[in-house]
Parts: sequence; C-alpha cells; structure tokens
Amino acid sequence: MSMPSVSAPPSSSMTDPSVADLLAARPHLRMHALEGLMLEQVPLAAIADALGTPVWVTGAGTLRSRYRRLEAALAEPSLGASIHYAVKANDHLAILRILSIEGAGADVVSGGEMRRAIEAGIPPARIVFSGVGKSDDELGLALSLSISQINVESREELERLSGLASACGRTARIVLRVNPDIDAGTHAKITTGLADNKFGVAYDEAADLYALAARLPGIEPIGFAVHIGSQINDPAPFRAAYARIADLVRRVREAGQAVSLVDCGGGLGISYRDEIEGSPRALAHAIRVTLGDLGLKLVVEPGRWLVAPAGVLLSRVLLVKQSAGRAPFVVLDAAMNDLLRPSLYEAWHGVVPLSARDAVQPAGPAHLVGPVCETGDTFALDRPLPHLAAGARVAILDTGAYGAVMSSTYNSRPLAAQALVDGSRWTTIRPRQPVEQLWAGELVPDWIAAGETGAGRAAE
Ligand SMILES: *Cc1c(COP(=O)(O)O)cnc(C)c1O
Repeated sequence: MSMPSVSAPPSSSMTDPSVADLLAARPHLRMHALEGLMLEQVPLAAIADALGTPVWVTGAGTLRSRYRRLEAALAEPSLGASIHYAVKANDHLAILRILSIEGAGADVVSGGEMRRAIEAGIPPARIVFSGVGKSDDELGLALSLSISQINVESREELERLSGLASACGRTARIVLRVNPDIDAGTHAKITTGLADNKFGVAYDEAADLYALAARLPGIEPIGFAVHIGSQINDPAPFRAAYARIADLVRRVREAGQAVSLVDCGGGLGISYRDEIEGSPRALAHAIRVTLGDLGLKLVVEPGRWLVAPAGVLLSRVLLVKQSAGRAPFVVLDAAMNDLLRPSLYEAWHGVVPLSARDAVQPAGPAHLVGPVCETGDTFALDRPLPHLAAGARVAILDTGAYGAVMSSTYNSRPLAAQALVDGSRWTTIRPRQPVEQLWAGELVPDWIAAGETGAGRAAE
C-alpha cells in the first residue's frame, strides 16, 4: 500500500509547485492584478490591513461547497452515510454553525468539544463521542445529554461506562472502536490504525468484547468504528480496513448479535503540495464495496478534508536575514505557536504572496522561519520562493484544519485574530488576543507579591 509521501520534509525539491501551480489547484484562491490574492471575492490584503498579521482567514463558501461535494458522494443510493464533522480539526463556533446548517453532526473527543458543538446548535442526537481516554465527568455529560453514540476504545472504558450508566438509570448506545492493524501509509504521528498505536480495541478481541457489552447493564452495543489515521489520499487502506470490519460484522451477526451501524472514521487527505487529493467518490466506493450490502447505518467523521483547504494564515515578513553564499532566512511574524504542523509533522504548506507584484518576482531558495526561540520554528527550508522583502505579506495555504486549534501562546505571543470570508463579505470572528489576557488568570501568592524576601531566607 505505497503512496506518495504526504508529509515530506520541508526541504527543497524540483517538484515544488510554483505560485501559479498552487493557485491553479485551488479554485477558491486567485491572483487579481490590482487587488492581489483573493479568497472567494475578498482581497486578503484588506483583511491583513484591517486586522494586522498574523491572521487566520477561512472561506465559508469554500467550506460549504466542500461539504456538499462530500455529501453528494456519500448520498449515493445504497450508502446514505451521514457526516459527523471531526470538531478537533477546527472548532470555531462559526465553522461549527456553518456545518450544522448544512446538516452535519459532530465527532467530539472531549467534554469541551461536546459543549461547543451544542453551543453551535448541533443537536445531541447528531453527536458522536470518540477518544482513548474519557473522564467520568465527560462520560456523565454524554449520558445526560443522551448523545447519539459513544465510541468505546477499551474493555476498561466499557466497564466504567456500564457502571456510570447504571448508576444514573440510563443506557449508553456504544460503538466499539476496532484497531484493524492496517498501515494507512501516512506520517507516523497521524497513523492510528496499527496494532501498536494506542487507539481502539484489538481486532481479535473485538467480537468477544462486543458480546460482553451486550451483557453489561446500561450498555447497548450498536456497531463498530474504525479510524486508521489522517491525510490518507489513497483509497486502498480505507478499503482494506472496511473489509476487515465487514468480516467482523458478519461473524458477530452469525453469533446471534445485532449490529446496526458502522462508523467509518475520518482521515481523507488533501493536496498540500502535489499529492492527488483524497476523493470523496473513491471513499464512497471503498465503503460501498465492503460494507454497502450489510444493511447498516453508515457514518463518516471527516475533519481535514472539509476545512483544511478553506483556510489560510496571513503573515508579514519582519526581515530578511542574508548570509553570504547561503539561502536567506525570511523571518515571518507568524511562528510555530500559531501554526504547529511544519514543526510537529514536517508538514509542507504552500506559500503565496498577497501582492501580485511580489508573486511574479523571480524565485530563489529561501528558508521561511518564525521568530520563536526554537530551531524547529520553520515553515520551509530551502524552498524556491519569489523574492520577498521586509513588509511583504504572504498567505500560508491549507491551514484551515489543525491550524488555529493547535496554537499556543509560547513566547507570550497572543493568539492571532481570525476572520471569515463569505463570498464578497468578510468579518472578524475572533479579535487578536489582548496581551494582558496572557496573564489575566495567573495568581502571585501574597507573600511573594509583598516582596518578603527575608521570610524565605529566615526559614532556611
Ligand atoms: C481526528 C479524528 C478524525 C478526523 O480525522 P481527519 O483526518 O481530520 O479527517 C475522525 N475520527 C477520529 C476518531 C479522529 O480521532
């Protein structure tokens, strides 16, 4: 199951797409001769002028059209799979609201995400709760809200949930997450379906555990779930995983138990560099040929595929640090605390200047880095980029998923602003975090605040 490396190190390559290539593959972005780079019908420079940089911008129209493409592929007769958006990819309320209006449910991995999804108007009956470690409080919240299903990942969790549900006189509809031991061929840090990953119950133990679940008080097992990893563009690993789940469903049914649902997980990949984007139709096909004739309710949990291409991170060049005979360091005002993916996964993100004049500058190799005090704070190494002078602004592409949600305030850098574009209008959806908020919750003990330096010394 080989596939092109999707998370190639951010180093130079003859195959790096040019600015023109990047734009040609992204119909929601285009370069206007005067207005510069546009997302849908909004010049991104206008947003950077108004809100400053760094700033995240998401295209609502782009998000909706991607949702509809996926929905259309999955709505084929004999499939009718429902979409539970993986909230962790981008949990902003406005994003959740857009998807909720489109009809999406939510796949959540914490009590916080559950509360957010409900705050955004997603009904509990469309919420699925996944995750390898759920606290009693979180399970209690899921039970009291009577959400659609809890995806259980271990025997320990199953028994604990049974106790909690019985104690409050409720029944938990559970789906057993199975680890199919399939290599999704993606980056090691986003592979989840191998036997030595922490996720799910072992394939060989799944049938027994399902039988146990049926006997436990407060538990109603309804099916199986599988999620083998993220950024998977080749349908082959999906198909292999679903085929194993189909076998399991048949065996469990032969043993006399009811299975009504299979949750096919998320993981569909996009084209960051020059990969062939994961295809909703190929995913639908993989589901249909393996699980399509079992009379199951089918569910998918996509995150990245829906939101990643809809978002960009705008940043400004602070300075260009030249060193003789070497590629210059182009230092941006965005850093790894804003966008962690290049540091964490060696992820490759396209970079396009906001100004049409900058975009046509001759390209030469450059290192694109952030100002944080970490060697790993790099966005691109030795990347052929148009010449960028101090003050030039760029868009870092495909940052709508696992972007703002992974931000930290490391180096006391406030969380960046966020804006939403919708056709020809745009608005702020989160102001830049005021710097005082960074320490607003911090407490200095009285005796330290009073400066009693002698007290500590006297006790020594
Ligand atoms: C992260 C996750 C998803 C979403 O993955 P994407 O690659 O963003 O589609 C879906 N289901 C589960 C259980 C997850 O952990």
